[in-house]
Amino acid sequence: MEHFDLSRRKFLKSSAVAVGALVAVGAGVGYLQKITAEKRINQKFLRPPGSIDEKDFIYACIKCGLCIQICPVHAIKFAGIKEGLAYGTPYIDVREQACDLSCDSIQCVETCPTAALYFVPFKNAGEKAIEQYDKTHKVDENYNPFPVQIRAMKENVKMGVAKVNEHTCLAALGKGFRGTPRGDDFKGINRTPDGSSAKATPLKDKVYNRKICNLCVTECPMGETAIVLDKHTGADGTEKFLPKVLDGCVGCGVCVMVCPTREPSIIVEPVKS
Ligand code: SF4
Ligand code: SF4
Ligand code: SF4
Repeated sequence: MEHFDLSRRKFLKSSAVAVGALVAVGAGVGYLQKITAEKRINQKFLRPPGSIDEKDFIYACIKCGLCIQICPVHAIKFAGIKEGLAYGTPYIDVREQACDLSCDSIQCVETCPTAALYFVPFKNAGEKAIEQYDKTHKVDENYNPFPVQIRAMKENVKMGVAKVNEHTCLAALGKGFRGTPRGDDFKGINRTPDGSSAKATPLKDKVYNRKICNLCVTECPMGETAIVLDKHTGADGTEKFLPKVLDGCVGCGVCVMVCPTREPSIIVEPVKS
């Protein structure tokens, strides 16, 4: 009996040690994964609309590719294998293909199955806009709340903020632009602002002729709430121009895609949500 008790005690003791060791190893692996992931987080990634905080995003995104598949302008790409644990997560290279918001309902966010792209704020903003609209338009013959709903949802996007390089911007240099902004072999497409139902047009097929360059202003899908061409008198008494980014900028990157200078004179800095 005593022999049995001793063995049992020994067994329980060694089991406890084994379980403890397993827990410690598990916690260690988890910790290592976390710090490795944090090291590998590329804060420069411009994530699709609605992305949660980068540190959480990397775990919440299951790399299913649904957002990539649903984007009508193919703006979203998979991060490459060099990005470590961020491999397979979605990002947008706006210089190559901006998110022109022409999907209307911010589809990439709506389709995300894990809420790594979080749809609730967009849904709420849209519903609130309809409520407001209903107060004054419910009895209208042409009742149509969808434009205000869509606009409110777009205003909720905050991927980043555009920033102009005054040293290279053609407008700042007092120069115009004539031609196709990114050359004849550029693959990017965009829809004219508010032309969401129209077919997306390849940028290479669009020809502009501007006395003072203002492509970033006229092509911005958010319009003058996001960017305007500021006109002022310089110290030398001549008229000066400069694109001015306003609070309504959502960081979609259309301005970056259309900017005709060799290196873009406007960039989008990702927001750290
Ligand atoms: S919000 Fe932008 S990135 Fe997302 S599906 Fe629409 S166009 Fe594509
Ligand atoms: S498109 Fe580029 S060069 Fe033209 S005004 Fe805008 S930032 Fe300047
Ligand atoms: S200025 Fe307009 S086009 Fe440029 S990132 Fe902001 S919202 Fe998009």
